[in-house]
Amino acid sequence: MNHRPARAYIGLGSNRGDPVAQLRRALAALGGLPASRLQAVSPFYVSAPMGRRNQSPFINAVAALDTALAPMSLLRALQRIEAAQGRRRGRRRWGPRPLDLDLLLYGARRMRTARLQVPHPRLSQRAFVLRPLCDVAPGVRVPPRQRRARAWLRRLGSQRVAALAAPTGTLTALESAAAGTSAQWPQSAGP
Ligand code: AMP
Repeated sequence: MNHRPARAYIGLGSNRGDPVAQLRRALAALGGLPASRLQAVSPFYVSAPMGRRNQSPFINAVAALDTALAPMSLLRALQRIEAAQGRRRGRRRWGPRPLDLDLLLYGARRMRTARLQVPHPRLSQRAFVLRPLCDVAPGVRVPPRQRRARAWLRRLGSQRVAALAAPTGTLTALESAAAGTSAQWPQSAGP
């Protein structure tokens, strides 16, 4: 059943198999979701991986989607897009992935079920999500304490996130240095 339309923010990330192409393909899929309209897409950013450091850098972006899909339906749609792009569930947490889609915010809804937590529980701790979120919604409120996205971002100054100047399959030396990494992406993965 469709809901009253809500503004959802979706975080996109990839660090395998041409991440820029993965994000573009995912954005096209988001734009094609039923009862939904893609309203805005942030620039792409480069960030060093969290958790397991010995993997390739991530490309990240945030999309604003107006949707009448209910939150769980939207999550299932995101997981279908991940699967179509070669994401295997049950792989190591924090490991490399061709595509990661997170439902960051769904209007003002708060949900806490086994399968879906909205707002995304780690949103306020991740500069690689807040930086692109600020591009599409700088004033949006993010828990805990409902601070604005840009206020959370200011508190995470030590996490480096660099704008991707040339969205090709390779990083320039400047982009790598700014993101605190020197790695490149293996041309494997994908479906
Ligand atoms: P990850 O491996 O970090 O992409 O986590 C995926 C798991 O997180 C899935 O089993 C989802 O059901 C669950 N999950 C809970 N809340 C969210 C959310 N807001 N966005 C995406 N996945 C979520």
